[in-house]
Amino acid sequence: MRKVKKIVGIAKGTLDFILEACKSNHPREFIGILSAEGELITDVFFLPGTISSDESAIIRMDMMPMGLCSVGSVHSHPHPAATRPSEQDLLMFSKTGEYHIITFFPYTEHNWRCYNSKGEERELGIVERD
Ligand SMILES: [Zn+2]
Repeated sequence: MRKVKKIVGIAKGTLDFILEACKSNHPREFIGILSAEGELITDVFFLPGTISSDESAIIRMDMMPMGLCSVGSVHSHPHPAATRPSEQDLLMFSKTGEYHIITFFPYTEHNWRCYNSKGEERELGIVERD
């Protein structure tokens, strides 16, 4: 069984990178897998074969790199009103970890939320690193 890591936050540089990637993909949906170094989310991986559309984002779990320790996922919602996870999102959340970021247009530092694997909103701190 995979050990569930305790996460204290996301590195600011990682969040900035995610928001930039969402902006450059807009109006297409951006999707990736989050991984952590210790207690901090520090990396985002784009998975080959990821299907994305305006409606939903589907991760191909068979394309997950071996040894990648996934703590959650990130994807964008191109419609600013849609901040809540969809049914499809919840299915994907349950397979990829405990921390799931949804960003939404226009993808500023305020346009994101973090959810747990059940789709309940949760706190995620932003940590500045040198
Ligand atoms: Zn979604």
